[in-house]
Amino acid sequence: TSDMFDPSRYESMEYVRCGNSGLQLPRISLGLWHNFGDNARYDTMEAIARTAFNNGITHFDLANNYGPAYGSAEKNFGRLMQDLFSAHRDELVISTKAGFDMWPGPYGVGGSRKYLIASLDQSLKRMGLDYVDIFYHHCMDANTPLEETMGALEQIVRSGKALYVGLSNYDGETLEAATTLLNEMHVPFIIAQNRYNIFDRTIEHNGLKQAVKKLNKGLITFSPLDQGLLTDRYLNGIPADSRIGHDPRFLKATDLNDAIMTKVSALNEMAQTRGQSLSQMALAWLLHDDAVTSVLVGASRPEQVLDDVEAVNNTHFTDEELQKIDEICGL
Ligand code: NDP
Repeated sequence: TSDMFDPSRYESMEYVRCGNSGLQLPRISLGLWHNFGDNARYDTMEAIARTAFNNGITHFDLANNYGPAYGSAEKNFGRLMQDLFSAHRDELVISTKAGFDMWPGPYGVGGSRKYLIASLDQSLKRMGLDYVDIFYHHCMDANTPLEETMGALEQIVRSGKALYVGLSNYDGETLEAATTLLNEMHVPFIIAQNRYNIFDRTIEHNGLKQAVKKLNKGLITFSPLDQGLLTDRYLNGIPADSRIGHDPRFLKATDLNDAIMTKVSALNEMAQTRGQSLSQMALAWLLHDDAVTSVLVGASRPEQVLDDVEAVNNTHFTDEELQKIDEICGL
């Protein structure tokens, strides 16, 4: 029932317009890449999702192959929609994606019209939804003409299966070419989703950040905590219940070395001086940037969500602080 959520849930979160669209996104969004597959407990997922929405997180980000197994995060989110959110669909912005490998054979990966349209149909079935709010092409595909991929996105919007479209992991040049095509077709392309955090500055160098500013697109940054490195998680070794400890598909023990941990410790001290947790400072560093619409965090427990949402309370950095962060990173 609707009274299971805090009536004051919209008061502490900030919402900003995504690029020049009318859609407002919370400054903190929640991603279901990890901790929502069939390897995780449903009661924990439910607690994380409830805490998120109770604290004004209205945006939940998925993809066809989040799991494991592929598809299971969408399936579990479908269950959350029924158990928690059935009375709240119109208060939520739900996104999904296709692009990376999903099913065997040539039609389950890439940027073809064949793949994108079939994949979104499958995603909607798994989540029990009629439409998603944002549908992304998940990654560039040099083997498919951009016209074909953008044409598929156009058809998806026309058919009512997505309200807006986004592009993920695109570089600046390709995003700009895609924008031209989408504009010609009057497709509401409003958001880029890219990896960006204190340690990973790629989008500052591949033209993406410049392009979103120039084109007035929203930017949602994924792995803002560098999968947990930019938190207190690994300050004293590898906890068994951490991502490295229990699910090292993408973040591995070999990613932790003395050089990284020296940086993490220095950043942690700096965060304490600011009166923030390291996670909060890492998120605030992104939110301070006027190119960034929302940061897309992951969480393995509700307490992390509570910690992360507080980042919006102090996003101010002095020039000296920004410089010190770059120095700690060796930039
Ligand atoms: P983060 O960088 O936010 O890492 C999340 C992890 O950080 C959590 O699982 C948790 O680790 C740890 N953490 C979070 N908050 C805290 C806290 N307050 N204190 C201590 N530790 C904390 O993001 P993800 O890498 O999970 O990515 C987020 C989302 O971005 C994904 O779910 C997905 O939606 C999107 N994404 C998109 C991609 C794309 O190609 N478009 C690719 C990758 C992600 P632990 O589990 O160890 O507790």
